[in-house]
Amino acid sequence: MLKKTFFPGRYIQGPSALEQLPQLILNKGKQGLVLASASARRILSEKGGLAELPDVWIESFSGECCEKELHRLAEILKKKQTDVLVGMGGGKAIDTAKIAADRAGIPVLIVPTIASTDAPCSGCAVVYSEDGIFESVHYQKSSPAAVLVDTEIIVKAPSRFLVAGMGDALATWFEARSCHQTRSPNVCGGLATQAGIAIAKLCHDILRQYGPMAKISAEKELLTPALEHVVEANILLSGIGFESGGLACAHAIHNGLTALEETHAFYHGEKVAFGVLTGLILTDAPPEETQGVFAFCEEMGLPTTLGDLGLVRCDRTRLMQAAEKACAPEESIHNEAGRITPEGVLNAMLAASAMGERRRNIVH
Ligand SMILES: [Zn+2]
Repeated sequence: MLKKTFFPGRYIQGPSALEQLPQLILNKGKQGLVLASASARRILSEKGGLAELPDVWIESFSGECCEKELHRLAEILKKKQTDVLVGMGGGKAIDTAKIAADRAGIPVLIVPTIASTDAPCSGCAVVYSEDGIFESVHYQKSSPAAVLVDTEIIVKAPSRFLVAGMGDALATWFEARSCHQTRSPNVCGGLATQAGIAIAKLCHDILRQYGPMAKISAEKELLTPALEHVVEANILLSGIGFESGGLACAHAIHNGLTALEETHAFYHGEKVAFGVLTGLILTDAPPEETQGVFAFCEEMGLPTTLGDLGLVRCDRTRLMQAAEKACAPEESIHNEAGRITPEGVLNAMLAASAMGERRRNIVH
């Protein structure tokens, strides 16, 4: 199998990075269109960043990355002869822009307004039904042409987004390590390069070193070097790390948990974090490593028990539905070593949750 690593064309991060957007648009085309979430629209009107570009149209995102929205957008792109598309907002606005640009054969620029997932730098996106139910993963022909992260915007978002982003990024190293050990393919359809592995490991180390300070910074809306480091870990390092390192049990367990309605109120990264803890127990990671990850999640306020994900009264039968979904044949859980079964996953979920409870009772 070939080694493969995908990168975004450019990555720009820092306070007032949004000021770079007009030039980036001009570098790529003549007729720009910004697909903007409601909060992105507000930011654009406050900062007035596109005033000097008369040929840029701002279009409001409908709220769901679904075929209906993609068709609507395709019509607008055609009518306005758009040759560069910008996706600005949260994960779904970004994903919609990535798919729409890919189908139209034009470059896409990504401007995340929160750091809650590692979606911005990757060349894949998730399509949902109009009601928000997962439908499929769409792989683009190329990675985003540029990713622009204005940390003055990120720091003003609720801190829960940054913490959820750390939960998503926490999985990157453990999943890349598993794929490397079993020589399983990454999301680019190849084996990890040395760069992919090193970036995934760096992502983990930055979270563990700077996570606590970044969380405090986000809560107080203070721009600090630690916050900058963690934003880079959540968006750039985790983005390259998961795509070029590969996915394994944590994301499969996340997908399994989405089968239980109680978890829908929780963010992607929050469910992924519990998937990491479950995965460490499932794959027999060294106990001191597992305890260290529990301690990190506790300090960050990430879920460490099923109760933390709204599953306090969930019985074994329903939890088994999640475990079975996590073990579906197409799931990345099979990138782990050995044979993974729903029974094993269920036991690991319950054991992780019991460990989370036990530690909480000892600490308090
Ligand atoms: Zn993820």
